[in-house]
Amino acid sequence: MSDDWSELRDVDPLTDGRVRIDFALAIADLPRLRSQLASAEGQVTGRVRFGRDRGVAVADVEISARAELICQRCLAPFACPVECGGRVAMVADAEEADRVPEGLETILAPGHRISVRDLVEEELLLALPIVPLHAGASCPAPGQMRIAGRGASPGEERHRPFERLDELFKRGP
Ligand SMILES: [Zn+2]
Repeated sequence: MSDDWSELRDVDPLTDGRVRIDFALAIADLPRLRSQLASAEGQVTGRVRFGRDRGVAVADVEISARAELICQRCLAPFACPVECGGRVAMVADAEEADRVPEGLETILAPGHRISVRDLVEEELLLALPIVPLHAGASCPAPGQMRIAGRGASPGEERHRPFERLDELFKRGP
């Protein structure tokens, strides 16, 4: 099995053969995820197991990673260990998505082809907090965001969280 994680693979032989793939990806190779992170350094490791659930092609994804997020209260980066996983149904179109049993996440696999990278990225995006924050007392400057917002000098404006995410996104691959 090749180590090109972005390679599209046919879903049917993977699920019929109950194939298991161990992966190690660089965060830098996950473009949609990278735009939400303070740093593109680090690795994502884990495994994908393919199979069927009530006739539907599924992948069980287990992920271990350490993401550098930006605290939306003090705007400092912090390391967030991520251990996540779940079962996702791979569907080629909306009609197939309708047949997926309730409670299963779905991912689009056009033409019944999917890459390990897309499975991993989707699962990680679901697992990351929508508004990342330092845990309670470990945030060094809990009141700072409000003060910066009122300061309204052009220099400070640029550091407002959403614009900053926007800039990271534009920098892109
Ligand atoms: Zn903080």
